[in-house]
Amino acid sequence: MSTTNQSSLNFIEQIIAEDLKSGKHEQIITRFPPEPNGFLHIGHAKSIELNFGLAEKYGGRCNLRFDDTNPEKESDFYVQAIINDIEWLGYDYGGKVLFTSDYFEQLYGFALKLIKEGKAYVDDQSAEEIAATKGTPTTPGTASPYRERPVAENLDLFARMRQGEFAEGSRVLRAKIDMAAANMLLRDPVIYRIKNAAHHRTGDAWHVYPMYDFAHGQSDSIEHITHSLCTLEFENHRPLYEWLIENIGIFPSRQIEFARLNLTYTIMSKRKLLQLVERGVVSGWDDPRMPTLSGMRRRGFTPAAIRSFARNVGIAKRENLIDVARLEHAVRDDLNKKANRVLGILHPLKLVIENYPEGQVEMMQAVNNPEDEAAGKREIPFSRELYIDRDDFMEDPPSPRKYFRLGPDRLVRLKYGYIIKCTGYEKDAAGNITLVKCEYYPESRSGQDTSGIKVKGTLSWVSAAESVPVEVRLYDRLFQAENPALAEDFMQELNPESLTVLTDARLEPGVKNLQAGETVQFERLGYFTVDPDTTAENMVFNRTITLRDTWTKKA
Ligand code: ATP
Ligand code: MG
Repeated sequence: MSTTNQSSLNFIEQIIAEDLKSGKHEQIITRFPPEPNGFLHIGHAKSIELNFGLAEKYGGRCNLRFDDTNPEKESDFYVQAIINDIEWLGYDYGGKVLFTSDYFEQLYGFALKLIKEGKAYVDDQSAEEIAATKGTPTTPGTASPYRERPVAENLDLFARMRQGEFAEGSRVLRAKIDMAAANMLLRDPVIYRIKNAAHHRTGDAWHVYPMYDFAHGQSDSIEHITHSLCTLEFENHRPLYEWLIENIGIFPSRQIEFARLNLTYTIMSKRKLLQLVERGVVSGWDDPRMPTLSGMRRRGFTPAAIRSFARNVGIAKRENLIDVARLEHAVRDDLNKKANRVLGILHPLKLVIENYPEGQVEMMQAVNNPEDEAAGKREIPFSRELYIDRDDFMEDPPSPRKYFRLGPDRLVRLKYGYIIKCTGYEKDAAGNITLVKCEYYPESRSGQDTSGIKVKGTLSWVSAAESVPVEVRLYDRLFQAENPALAEDFMQELNPESLTVLTDARLEPGVKNLQAGETVQFERLGYFTVDPDTTAENMVFNRTITLRDTWTKKA
């Protein structure tokens, strides 16, 4: 149990600490209740970190329960994807996956109990009629003509609804609470509806399915969840949550609301994310531009970074918008310590060192990770013909005194290599530079430099013959608007330049050994992760993130 000072606890921790102190609960049980109708996104990671984190902190337990009460939208495909994501993040759900559908019989029993006590009735009105008689926030609703139906008739009808005797929409089961309640959700809410759809786990055993409000809270009670944490939009459901627990007479789980995580430039609704997938705007749920955990994994974000971000954003009682730069910062911070460095060129420009012996290859010593001595060193081949980046050469720099890269008569150091001086260059008919000619200073070899020459610029390079040509996918934000959720049509806010594919990037030869999912830093350029699309002929890298927050600066 935590020994942390009460005052440093957030509001949920304060409630838990109090409940443990007073002996209300001996052990806390939380739950993460995804609906298997899409992939998990970074907002879910916040909820996962919160629920699993609290269980861990207070020596309790956190259940993983699929809230699977909408057969048409749910599938085992999503169940597997969600389990995969949670395991990838590294949380322990005790190896047991729970499903609301496993409680269908018990939930049905709860409904029978309410019917028998005159607290629920079968309503033959259509959804439209029920909505039209709900009243308004300031005027009470009108009782259904079926509200006083005798218990026996309700029991008979509900049993026949279960058997599939009636058409969808022809009848519902409603809790009999108060048609004049100030909280509209208490005006005889629908608790069961007829659905003649096959369920991904129970098949066609059922023709009635519980509504969210009758499934979620009751499942919490069945599992003896002590603290049921949900997002703010359920705040006005709480009186119903409590009414049902009290009137069914089951374990008093407590619902506590917190603000959902919203991120700038990000859509966080599964429904909208599904539209991006279905319309082919992205390549799938795991497109590296998606805010899904699978997209982030493919992009190269690490579990440690996501968890640290989710922990550090904290929890709030009011809606807010968190700067996505905070997530990106957590990713850079983690990768900086973990990712080995390699030399890489995104836009290759040939460079010939005319006084370097033809056919000679020297192996240069390079540091794998300056942040981690244990990462050791490697050797990279240096030769007469190299590639440097197009962006590192200028014929005529606009402010020559502030320009430290290569240009006519300029000197730079090639990282881990020699100092070179530009002696000339060639252009094509369109005016593009096609070749840079240099001389090198043999006594300036990195680590053994006796040349006495001082230079300000250091460039990345790769050996032309030994380097590996690769495909690099550069990502920018998927949305242009800071808060695309506010747009009338979020599809209008898509960034047309969210993906740029470079087909002839060049990397030092050692990268050939990297496996899909491994991340390296291309020095000066950012972190890049091997994509599963990689084949023996074509290595594909995703740019995970730039080195600094320079999204506007195009690579
Ligand atoms: P979405 O709006 O993306 O469809 P949802 O709430 O319908 O999300 P669920 O599968 O029901 O998706 O969510 C599972 C859990 O994750 C719920 O407890 C929900 O409150 C929580 N959750 C979902 N989105 C967020 C978010 N942005 N921030 C924090 N928690 C979230
Ligand atoms: Mg939901």
